[in-house]
This record gives sequence, C-alpha cells and structure tokens, in this order.
Amino acid sequence: VAEAASRPNSPEARDTAFVVHGLTNLRRHLDEGPLVIESGRGVWVRDRHGRDYLEGMSGLWCLSLGYGETRLIEACRRQMETLAYAHLTNHRSHPAVIDLAEKLIEIAPVPMSHVWFANSGSEAADCAARLCWYYWNAQDAPERRKFLAHRRAYHGNTIAAASLTGADYAHRQFNLPLDGFLHVACPDYVTDALEEESEQAFSERLLADLEALIAREGPETIAAFFTEPILAAGGVVIPPQAYLDGLQILLRKHGILLVADEVVTAFGRTGEMFGCTTMGLAPDLIVCAKGITSAYFPLSAVLINARVFDAMVAQSDRLPLFGLTMTYSGHPVGCAVACEAIRIYEDDAIVARVRRLEPVLLDSLRRSLRGSAIVGYIRGRGLLAGVQLMARRHPVQTFDPTQRIGPLCADAAQAQGLFVRAIGDTLAICPPLTISESEIEILADRLARGIADVE
Ligand code: PLP
Repeated sequence: VAEAASRPNSPEARDTAFVVHGLTNLRRHLDEGPLVIESGRGVWVRDRHGRDYLEGMSGLWCLSLGYGETRLIEACRRQMETLAYAHLTNHRSHPAVIDLAEKLIEIAPVPMSHVWFANSGSEAADCAARLCWYYWNAQDAPERRKFLAHRRAYHGNTIAAASLTGADYAHRQFNLPLDGFLHVACPDYVTDALEEESEQAFSERLLADLEALIAREGPETIAAFFTEPILAAGGVVIPPQAYLDGLQILLRKHGILLVADEVVTAFGRTGEMFGCTTMGLAPDLIVCAKGITSAYFPLSAVLINARVFDAMVAQSDRLPLFGLTMTYSGHPVGCAVACEAIRIYEDDAIVARVRRLEPVLLDSLRRSLRGSAIVGYIRGRGLLAGVQLMARRHPVQTFDPTQRIGPLCADAAQAQGLFVRAIGDTLAICPPLTISESEIEILADRLARGIADVE
C-alpha cells in the first residue's frame, strides 16, 4: 500500500492528498496510504489489487445482509423512481415512512408508541437525548438535565452522542464531554472484576457505586441512563444479568428514563430481533441504525414509548411546534430499504439462523484459538463475538496498552485476508448474518493464523 501511495495519481496517492479519515492516525495514514476496497459480494470484499478479504466486521457492525443483496438494491431503485424525496414537516408524510414506523412498532421488544427518524446512529442518539430533555421539560422538571452512560460505551460522535460515549478519543481536544454527561464503570466482569469476585458481587459493587453517584448528583437532576444491551465498540462487553436487572430497578426507583442504544444489537445480531430481548431490558426509548437498512442507505430511528410520546404531545398545548427536524428525517429511500431489509430478516428467518450459528461461531473460534497463549476469553451472543487477548488469565493480567497487541493481531488477520476490529486488546467479530458455516471456519482459521503471527 505504501508503495502504491508513492505513485502519482494512484487512488492511494489521491486519497492521502484529499481525504480525511476517522479513527485513524493521520500522520501514519499520510505515510502508509489507504487500503482501497473496490467491490463486495456476500461476506467478501476485494481490494483494488484483486485481494479478497472476509468481512468479519460487517464493515462497521452494519452490513448485516452482506454485499450484493438484490432485494435491497431493487427496493432502493423502485423508491427512487417513485418518490426520491419527501419530508415529514408541516404534517406531510409518505407511504414508506408509514410502513416502516408501523413495522418497527409491531416488532419492538417492549410496547412502543411512535418512531422518530434520523440518518445515523449518532444523530439518533443525539435526538434521543433531546427527547429526554423535551420530556422532562414537559413534566415541569427542567432540572432533570444530566445523562449517565458507561465508560467505554460508544453512542456516536455528534456532540451529545460523543458526550455520551465513554471514550477518551472522542473527547480529548474536542472540548467534550458537555457538562452533565457523566460516566459510570463499564460492566466488564472479565477484565474489571476484583480478584475472586463473583459476578453477583461485581454487579452489586457497580450498582452500589451507581446509587451513590445518583444520591450525590441528586436523582431529580438526572434525565436518563443510556446503555447498549451489549457494549459493542466498548469491546463486546456482555453485562452480567444481575447488573442489568439491578440497574433497571434503580432507575425505576429514581424515575430516571432508560435509553437502549441498539444501533449494533438490533435486527437479529444477538439471536433475537432486539438485544433488549436477549438481555432483558425494558427501555423508554430505543435507538436503532446500521442493520435497519443493512447499511445500504443511511437511516436511523428512535422508538418512543407512550410515557414519553404522550408528554411530547402534551407540550403542543403550550408550544406552537415540536421543534426537532432534519431535511432527511424519514427519507423515503431509506425507509423503503429498511422495510425491505426487515422483510428479508423475516422471510429468511434470520433470527433462527443466528441462533443456529451462534455455537458454530463460538465453537470454531474456541477450537482454532485453543493453542494460543495470548487468548484469554472468547465471548459472544448471536453473531457478535469478542476475543479477549491477555498476558495471563488467572489472575487476569492485561497487556501494556503501548504494546498494541490487539491492533497488531487485527493487522496480522488482515494480512491473512480477514477483517476484524481491535478494541484495545479485544478483537471484535461481527460478520454479516448471512455468513455460511464454511465461511465461519475460514474466519476462525484466518484469525488463528493472524494471532499466531503476533505471538
Ligand atoms: N451507537 C452505537 C452502539 C454504535 O456502535 C454506533 C456506531 O458504531 C453509534 C451509536 C453511532 O452510529 P453512527 O456511526 O451511524 O453515527
């Protein structure tokens, strides 16, 4: 790649000349250049030199139905021909948004009332935060302004979403988080439990700390708690059930809204249509994106329960307008693609397929990585898995982050023709839900060979 980038007018040279890349070391990028992907088919992508890679991350946790899905392409084309654009302001509507909203309410994991649409997960998380503020103002409780979220959780990168995100890289030098966005301990039992601490004791310790924080801040100042059912970009952290159960009791006790960020976990990923069902969450708002269109069109949604929606409507007796709006909110092409994606999830029984493939994925990872001295734990739900690299398992000893073991392993896997994502020393795996059993074997084999190259 570096050699191609040094050639004038190569795509690599033109990329480094003109394109800014996120979550990328910009200096290193100028030196080394990009990997230019030109095409995709099923779970495979091809770079411009003809090398094939198994897309073990569905792009960025989003391409749930794989590349080349003709039904989505057709749905997109049909809607573009019929009505390429319409908006939802001033009482306007269109069939695709009505169909999609009705369907989302039908399949919601807990009773929901209405749907707000946006274009990305970040925007939807931002809008969810705005809706929480709007709700509390409607309840004449304007002092309920603070948000709680987990350290290491990822909720997006617009200003409120980045403030909710519990990652230093999203804050440092960006003057974030905004005031009143508070972070609590990540419920990662695998790496953060004390020595000999049981899952129950770990959960109780985190909940006691949270209750103390709520008491210190004053429950009457807290608007909502945001959590992913499984913290994907935080390192595929599966919170203990006792923690999530206790969390919800605590929030209910203090009247704090619960927002579930299902941007990664919804639409079959965890072996249920929604991660809230897998993890037993009953939120007031649900944020969806990514798999909603299988990434064929940018679209996101916030599912709103009756408690919040009724209060929003009641505000219309006091305010002339519900003032939230975006030009592409409920974009007809995105809605048509999402309707078709959901039809495919249902027609192809994707949830049942994911449940069947969960043990196939976890077993083949465990088999292939059995001999590795640096693989500590392998965890997952559905087709979302994390391979935790560590120096020692008992007692847990993590690697020095400056060794960059996770990124080195992800790079080595890429050299073997596999995309996975390093989150610190966790390797995240999130393949298209359409992956076959033999492709899962290839994934596990290439990952093992990549890790072996680093060991
Ligand atoms: N929430 C979660 C859980 C995510 O994983 C992401 C993206 O990875 C987002 C929100 C932000 O979504 P987007 O990148 O579409 O803005």
